[in-house]
Formats: sequence, C-alpha cells, structure tokens
Amino acid sequence: MKMYVGTDWVDASELIEVINPFDGSVVDTVPKATAADVDRAIVTAMRGAEVMASLTGYERSEILRRAGDLILERVDELAPVITREQGKIIGESRVEATRAAEILYLSAEEAKRLNGEVVPLDGGPGAGGKLGFTLRVPCGVVAAISPFNFPLHLVCHKAGPALAGGNAVTIKPATDTPLSALKLVDILLEAGTPPEAVQCLTGAGSDIGDVLVSDPRVRKITFTGSRDVGEHICKTAGLKKVTMELGSNSPVIIMDDADMEKVSSALVQTTFANAGQVCISTQRIFADGNIYSDFVDSFGDTVSKINYGDPFDESVMMGPLVREADAERVASWIDEAVTDGAKVITGGQRDGGFVEATLLADVDPAMKVSCDELFGPAAAASKVSSIDEAIDMANDSPYGLAAAIFTQDIDRAMKFAQGMDAGNIHINWGSQWRTDLMPYGGIKESGMGKEGPHYAVREMTEEKLVVLHLD
Ligand code: NAP
Repeated sequence: MKMYVGTDWVDASELIEVINPFDGSVVDTVPKATAADVDRAIVTAMRGAEVMASLTGYERSEILRRAGDLILERVDELAPVITREQGKIIGESRVEATRAAEILYLSAEEAKRLNGEVVPLDGGPGAGGKLGFTLRVPCGVVAAISPFNFPLHLVCHKAGPALAGGNAVTIKPATDTPLSALKLVDILLEAGTPPEAVQCLTGAGSDIGDVLVSDPRVRKITFTGSRDVGEHICKTAGLKKVTMELGSNSPVIIMDDADMEKVSSALVQTTFANAGQVCISTQRIFADGNIYSDFVDSFGDTVSKINYGDPFDESVMMGPLVREADAERVASWIDEAVTDGAKVITGGQRDGGFVEATLLADVDPAMKVSCDELFGPAAAASKVSSIDEAIDMANDSPYGLAAAIFTQDIDRAMKFAQGMDAGNIHINWGSQWRTDLMPYGGIKESGMGKEGPHYAVREMTEEKLVVLHLD
C-alpha cells in the first residue's frame, strides 16, 4: 500500500515489507518515509487543523459517525488484514474491527459536547462582579504513534478523539503492522474527513520518530508503546502535551475465598488473548498459600488445552508472536526462570514464532518473567500468605497499568482497590478487561493521561478561561 502524505497516496524509493508472522510470507510493502515526508505531512496537517477547527461539532461528529458505519460494513475485509499483519486469531481480529467502529461512534458523541464550565470567580477576594467560563479549543496538529498489537483499534483511540476535538492528526503506525492504519485513513477520507486533516507516515520510528515528535508545529503527541520508547519521546518532544500509554507486567491476586472456577475461566482469557501481547495481559499471579496448589493444578489443566496454529483456522486459540525474535526472547526468559528454580506446570516450548501457552509456578518475583514486561503467552505464579503481602508484591513493580483480585470479601477487595497502584483495578476478573468508553491508562511508569474518547478528547484540546468583568 502507499502512505497518505500531503493530500495524496504516495510511494517512496525505499519500501518496507510487511511480513505475515504465521508463515513469513510478504503480505504487502509500504513506503519508507523520510524526514522530507514528515515535513510535508506536518505542513499539510497545519492547513488541515485550520479546516478542522472551522467545522462545527455536528460536522465533525457526522464524519466520525460515517467512518464508524464504514468500518462496520467492512469488518470482514478489515479483520483478515489485522490477522495477516499481526498474527492474532481471526475471531479476535473481528472483535478488534468491531470495536474500532465503536470508538469512532464514541468519538462522534464527544465532538458534540466539548463543554467547558462556569467558574464563579467572585469566590476570590476582591473579585466581585467577575464571572469566568472555560472554552475547549483544538491543540492543532496531533501526532499519533501506535504499537503493533492492536493495529486498528489503538489507532482509532487516537485518531477518533483527535478529530472529534477539531485537530488534524498525523498517524505513525508500527512498522510491523501499518496496513490496518492505512485502511483506516482510506475510510476516514471516504467518510468526509478534510483531505489535509489526516496524514499517515509509514517508516521506522527510529528513523522518522525524532523528526516528528520534536517538531514545534506538532502540539500534541499521543503515544502507545513500550516504556523505553515512551520515555525517549517525552525527552525529545520538548514543550508540548503528551499522552503516554505504556507497558506493564499486570498482577492478579487470588485469595483463599475466591470462586476458583471463575478464576480459571477468567485468567485463561486475560493471560493468553493475542498470545499474551496485550499491555494489560495477566503476567504475575499471587495466590494465597491455602489454595496455591489447587489453583496451579486447575489453571494448569485449563492452560494445557490452549492450542496454537494458523490464526485463520477458527478452531485455533492462539496465533504466533509478531516476530520470531519475540518468541525467542519469551522462551529464553522462561528457560532462565526454570534454571533459577521455577517449575513449568504446562507449556514452555517454542515452535518457530509460536510459544506454547505456559504456566510457571514457584516463581521468584525477581525473575525476568515476573519483574519485566514479558508480552508473551505465559503467566508466573508465586505463593503469598496474606493480602498485605500480596498487595506489597503486586506493587513491587515500576509499572501500574491494570491489576486484579479474586475474593468474596468486600474488605479485602476494597483494601486492594485502595492500596494497589494501578490505573485500572478489577475485582473478580483478570487484569485484562477494557471497554472503550472507560478512562483507560496507567500510573507510575505505565504512562500518563487517559484514553477512552470522553477522556482523550480533553487531552486533545486546550482549555482557555474567559473572564467577564461585569459592572
Ligand atoms: P514500541 O516498540 O515502543 O513501538 C511503538 C511505536 O513507537 C511504533 O510505531 C514504533 O515505530 C514507534 N517508535 C519507535 N521508536 C520511536 C521513536 N524514537 N520516536 C517515535 N516513535 C518511535 O512498542 P511495540 O512493540 O509496537 O508495542 C508493544 C508495547 O506497547 C508494549 O510495551 C505494550 O505494553 C505497549 N502497549 C501499551 C498499551 C497501553 O494502552 N498502555 C496498549 C498496547 C501496547 P516502529 O514500529 O517503526 O519501531
């Protein structure tokens, strides 16, 4: 596919191959953007931002609503693109495409209610007769940098609120998975987005990233990706607004009063969806000593039934990792944990780009499979003796994205909710749960700012205060 820069679909002298993680075949090629392409995209987006700001909320809303309709009409076309470039099973890709439409519908709603607030300034000393109100105005040009693991859904979480807020958006999708984003741009244009208001640059972040994020004409950066790249972008961006949706090694605590059937059925979904390549995948499990052995046995049994294979085969439950190098890394972390004393309850083997669904027990939290972000299909279980110990261990991480507890005891649940440092807390479900309207985002090194169109649109706009000096 070509990339969309200026108001054209353009090629480049150098191309990048998009590889199917399942069989290594070349799905397509995309242009390798240069610094000159970045400049052209920003110059055009500056004009696009002016056009967007001149549209009414109703007009922006209608564009986003039409784009949502087009996505829904094309789920059967978009889902295979996601599976081919990213490797997730086709059922998960259909869900991703459907949710992408939902995000644009939610963004369409937000375009109609960019409200401010009345500020009763006469509450301040000497401010009698003063009345204030706030206005939300677009930032201008938004740079939206997205990761490989949800190549359509997460681009919509950025482009939808950016356009809803009256901005132009320059998308930089992950190099492994640019095709879904390019398809989305096509849909946004067909839905009536002004041709200057959306740009899509394909090419390595290491080549064009700094040029894009350091440009002073870009007024807002919304980034989803790894902690280290996020930190680099924050340092490079200079004085502009940033939203950072970063990584995690999400913990789940299982107390001795948990509903164990629900634990297994929930955790199998929250650990192994997209072969564990989800930022809120359950990675660390802290189980109470009274139920630890029973939990390991029963969850191990459930995990051992997860098969892997061709992601287009409807009977397959897990596809490959996005790159074989990632499968090698995940397998090596598992091997290292085993060498250091962890037990493989099930799985543990690599087969090319696949890693078996794996449960490790007796994991020391200092092992890499526990303390670093694994981003693969394995969970690391450790034994705890009390809720306090469990919360301390769960909090012993630089990350704080999502966390969960299984317990029937409201006091324990609330102790966890109050004591756990994470942006999203789940009670009686695993760490991986999201609906697109909720405020979603991490604390600590998992990032800053929230996604979910209602919240993201606030991050994509500036707030001005108007003061009426009344006689
Ligand atoms: P990544 O390597 O950090 O890449 C993310 C994006 O940043 C890609 O588009 C990448 O481009 C780009 N990039 C790389 N270097 C850059 C630079 N110097 N300047 C600007 N952009 C640059 O992450 P990933 O491997 O794609 O995704 C996995 C990570 O994302 C995990 O850590 C996961 O937890 C996190 N994630 C977080 C959330 C959340 O909501 N919190 C959701 C999903 C994923 P290239 O592809 O060209 O390198």
